[in-house]
Amino acid sequence: MKVLVAGGAGYIGSHCVRQLLAAGHEPVILDNFVYGHRGALPAGVKVHEVSLADTAALERVFAAEHIDLVMHFAAYCYVGESVTTPLKYYLNNVSATYNLLDVMLRHGVKKFVFSSTCATYGVPATLPLVEGMPQAPINPYGQTKLDVENALKALAHAKSLSFAVFRYFNAAGASEDGSVGEDHNPETHLIPLAFGAAQGLRPALQVFGTDYPTPDGTCQRDYVHVDDLSRAHIAAFEKLSQPGTALFYNLGTGRPTSVKEVIDAVEKVTGLKVPVNYGPRREGDPPALFANSLKAQSELGWKPKFMTIESVVETAWRWHKARPKGYEG
Ligand code: UDP
Repeated sequence: MKVLVAGGAGYIGSHCVRQLLAAGHEPVILDNFVYGHRGALPAGVKVHEVSLADTAALERVFAAEHIDLVMHFAAYCYVGESVTTPLKYYLNNVSATYNLLDVMLRHGVKKFVFSSTCATYGVPATLPLVEGMPQAPINPYGQTKLDVENALKALAHAKSLSFAVFRYFNAAGASEDGSVGEDHNPETHLIPLAFGAAQGLRPALQVFGTDYPTPDGTCQRDYVHVDDLSRAHIAAFEKLSQPGTALFYNLGTGRPTSVKEVIDAVEKVTGLKVPVNYGPRREGDPPALFANSLKAQSELGWKPKFMTIESVVETAWRWHKARPKGYEG
């Protein structure tokens, strides 16, 4: 299939592009390179440098390419920033996505795979999270993703759009061949910040909150390998042939890992000490989030390969050690 990958130069998108190629698909990249990296793209892949907000440019892409399916990874993803700068998130994650959907549907493209998030659930009443549980985000980032999920439901009904929504837990790790990895600017994610602190390249790691109702007082998350995420996306393609199909899947390992446990894993894998400062909670952070992903497992035959935090951190460390300053370093 010819697959338009919006955000194909970003962290998860660039890993998925490689998996698409490996599975025999033809990815076409759409990225505005605000956060994406040219160095994350494999040689020979077609790239359109286009913003999703630019309707005329999107029209040209869909007129020139005969796209079978759109995968959409192009979103801002910082929970903290979404709290302080909500409109940046609504304009990019919501408005620009509606623009993409409008243009693609007008060009007869009716298959869509969307990156959503466990942040759409807010603070869950029970864990692990199952897809049918109530969604009540506690930060604008999660709300923007939920807004798009709701629009997709309406479009499946009204326009026969077929879509799969993947609610990621914490994407982590790097490709096994070391070709791509995590490089955000600014970096706010726990694992790369812990590496940087251990190497003395960044200040001591701030642990956000030690008084959560969790076994060690720090937040628990479900760290799922970025290549495992990518494999689930591609496995969903064959489910989208029927017009109006609406699919929702959690993607996680099902294992909660606390911030302290991540730090332990980083120290074990790197052999370095992570200097730590214990600080207050970060606004917008739920105490614990981990997935029940049995639906993806049974319907898509998906099985995460990386089931331990050490195995995820190991791949991330291989990438980070080779490129401590990321793609541009
Ligand atoms: N975290 C932390 N210090 C940091 C960055 C993150 O203690 O410098 C915590 C954060 O509160 C959360 C977990 O690590 O509980 C994962 O945060 P991250 O930003 O990596 O992903 P998120 O869960 O926000 O998507």
